[in-house]
Amino acid sequence: MRLSVFSSQFTADAALVTALMSSLVISTQARTVASEADEASITNGTEECQVYGYQPVTDALDGFPTIWEPATIVSTDTDALNTWANISQFVPTNIQPQGTIFGVWNTTPLYDTATDPDCWWTKTECTTPKISGVPDDVATVPEPMTMGYGFDDGPNCSHNIFYDYLAEQNQKATMFFIGSNVLDWPYEAMRALDEGHEICAHTWSHHYMTGFTSEDAFAELYYSVKAIKLVLGVTVTCWRPPFGDVDDRIRAIAEALGLRTIIWQYDTFDWEQQSGNITAAQVDANYETFITRAQNGSFTDVGSIILTHELNNFTMQTAMDYYPQLKAAFKYMVPVGVALNKTQPYLETNYSLPTFEQYIGGTTTVNGSTATNSTSSSSSKSSSGASALSPISSALLVCVSGLLAALS
Ligand SMILES: [Zn+2]
Repeated sequence: MRLSVFSSQFTADAALVTALMSSLVISTQARTVASEADEASITNGTEECQVYGYQPVTDALDGFPTIWEPATIVSTDTDALNTWANISQFVPTNIQPQGTIFGVWNTTPLYDTATDPDCWWTKTECTTPKISGVPDDVATVPEPMTMGYGFDDGPNCSHNIFYDYLAEQNQKATMFFIGSNVLDWPYEAMRALDEGHEICAHTWSHHYMTGFTSEDAFAELYYSVKAIKLVLGVTVTCWRPPFGDVDDRIRAIAEALGLRTIIWQYDTFDWEQQSGNITAAQVDANYETFITRAQNGSFTDVGSIILTHELNNFTMQTAMDYYPQLKAAFKYMVPVGVALNKTQPYLETNYSLPTFEQYIGGTTTVNGSTATNSTSSSSSKSSSGASALSPISSALLVCVSGLLAALS
């Protein structure tokens, strides 16, 4: 479908959402899945992507916005309404929505990129907020020659071959999950957590966040956190904005929900291949440029994060194709949280990540009960995972606690 009257950004976004939804085959005869292990054993992508029912999700759907629709607070959801009422006072009111949720900005006044008053990443790649109480975005990792390895847009219904590959390599990554995908493919989401990958949120419906009203932006984050909590039992503490579209208004909302904003340094643009905006050869070139930079010593002081996806078979196959070269070019490839020594990735303390030192020493997973909160060794540049709460987070701890109570 061509939408030539709209900007290329809209077309790209529409194509991406279509791609995200394309695997969801509407069926009147949903199959039954007996267990996470049964689902994880399927290697036929077509079979894997046939809709199935999962009773805890079915039972909870009334408490969520419509899957894949831009989120708004469910009118009967008093917990969400109360949380928003508490959070809203901390959200800047002098920053207006930027354009639309489809990334169309030509209807709004020209943004002043020179002064960049809103620290709007999309326009300036700004990662240091100009409002107080909100930490910098994570765009690099402190460990030298280290790659913060992660994938956006999952869980993808046909990801088993890809996840099998990661398991064979004993490689963990950070998975930025879309709330709607988590409810569509709960067993795929469970596989990620159970195999030791770090889970972060990637909004409810995958639109441009700065285009939402503050209340709807809150709903996009709130319900993605809630979907992950429902299916996986953990409350995530990190998120990545779709398209990197974040400004200080959105950061403040995320921070109030206890979510650290994770961005990237290099984009492979693998996500644009399916829409035809770029070719597979260009994606290859992007990977190769990144690898060459690693080989040339660009990351000898500070490690890096690239943007890659479990969006479709192309992006996952390309990730597998380049894994050996990335592994050779970098000294370490670890989940973003591990690179940050963030040993407590979730509010629940029964899940933990290894420290960076543990991970590179071969301990790629740890049991929550044996997790250590001790600071890392003196050779590590990362900060301790037990970082101090920012002022906004401290003020709103009660809100997060309320969210937890509502979800438990
Ligand atoms: Zn995405």
